[in-house]
Amino acid sequence: MRNRTIDVHCHFFNISFAFAEMLEIGWRWIHSDYPYTSDERGLLKGVGIIPPELKKVARYVASYFASVVRKPGEHYTYEQGCCQQSQWHVAQPLITVPLMMDIFFLFDKGEMEQRRGVMPSLHGGAGKDALNATTISEENADAFDAFAQIMKTAFIPVYKKRASTKEFASAFSAKKMTDIGCDLDQVIAEFKVGHAKEGVRSVAQRSVKRSVQMTRGYSKHLEELQELQRDNPETVLPFLAVDPRRIGIEELVREQVVDGAFKGVKLYPPLGYLPTHPNLYPIYRLCVKHNIPVTVHTSKGGLLSLCDTIKTRSQKRDGTVVPVTFDKKLGKTADLFFANPAGWLEILENSEFSGLHLNFAHFGGEEHIGNLANQKPGEPDHPENWTGQIIGLMERFRNVYADFAYCPNNGMLDNIMKIAKRYPVVQQRLMFGTDYNMVMKESVLVDDLKNYFDSYTGIFPEMLTVNPAAFLG
Ligand SMILES: [Zn+2]
Repeated sequence: MRNRTIDVHCHFFNISFAFAEMLEIGWRWIHSDYPYTSDERGLLKGVGIIPPELKKVARYVASYFASVVRKPGEHYTYEQGCCQQSQWHVAQPLITVPLMMDIFFLFDKGEMEQRRGVMPSLHGGAGKDALNATTISEENADAFDAFAQIMKTAFIPVYKKRASTKEFASAFSAKKMTDIGCDLDQVIAEFKVGHAKEGVRSVAQRSVKRSVQMTRGYSKHLEELQELQRDNPETVLPFLAVDPRRIGIEELVREQVVDGAFKGVKLYPPLGYLPTHPNLYPIYRLCVKHNIPVTVHTSKGGLLSLCDTIKTRSQKRDGTVVPVTFDKKLGKTADLFFANPAGWLEILENSEFSGLHLNFAHFGGEEHIGNLANQKPGEPDHPENWTGQIIGLMERFRNVYADFAYCPNNGMLDNIMKIAKRYPVVQQRLMFGTDYNMVMKESVLVDDLKNYFDSYTGIFPEMLTVNPAAFLG
């Protein structure tokens, strides 16, 4: 793998994934079942009471995934084509690392866990039936249809807006707007069947143990990546999205990463948890034992938890667990509170995990990279600069890496070269990533991923090859 070109950070999910998860969140929410089955399970409330915030969430999620119009296999083919046509002139197909995302807890305040007194764990907490959704019963069918139409109405305008762009047109050259509506209808139809019903459970579902909470969009995308990996074993190395609040997540990592098609683990703390969440410790243990790489979102912005307050927990290296409350009113947004690289010290300074293969995705983000690159000679590093903090961790820990995915703007190649010349460790640990398809939102790319590859022509070749190969093991 050492001479092959690697995109260590991309995504092959699409808007159907986001829509399925939104239906899952919304339908459970109006039944007081979100994110787990409630002891006080209420009677079915009318669709009329769908709270306005739920519709707002649906529109927000739709806009975040607006650039994501291809099916996973189409994403893969498109990215390969763009790389081939770029000025890079790579001889062999690009190795891609598609990262899953888990958006199910976007709306979770942590109250259920508080009420239960313990965080859900492998076999604990909610009853079996709560974990996996079943079919929509006949008596609920009308209510569900009405609910699904409301959610669909929140998504459709986003498609319409996107339809005028070149990238959308190329992805959907042969399709009409009505077909896109049909994609959502298909999600609705699949939702009604439910994946827990015997006979219709998907490949992923059949392999996933019943003690793992599998929501529909998450489960379907997992299966799509399994399939894509099977068809392209050399060039698709997917990472499993891990959220410590998903019941049975350790079990899922064992099955899908240790023994399955997934190469690594993806964490996204701004959705509402710290790297020191107690349920992540068993995952880190597996990662160290089996040499599994971990990629963690580390920049400002991105998709943030939609809750203003979140109750969660943090575990210290001596095993003590303390309650933690995030409160937006205190001045920090969820990205600053949860994604700060300093939050990893407790893990990396723990001798058990100091060898963890850890990639700080986005290298702190464009703004921090730019600030560090352009500071005056002799000026001390700003302690709050995340890029500087990550470099500090690279210097202390042998397997700490970073990728500069989602840095589409002019001047970023220069900035990265400047930093790499100043800090030798960066030349050995920094990696190229596109953040396709999230990055397609950026107008500077004029809807063509080829422009992203072109803008990094001349980058240190190690960042495309040896560094990611070493990170991936
Ligand atoms: Zn990303």
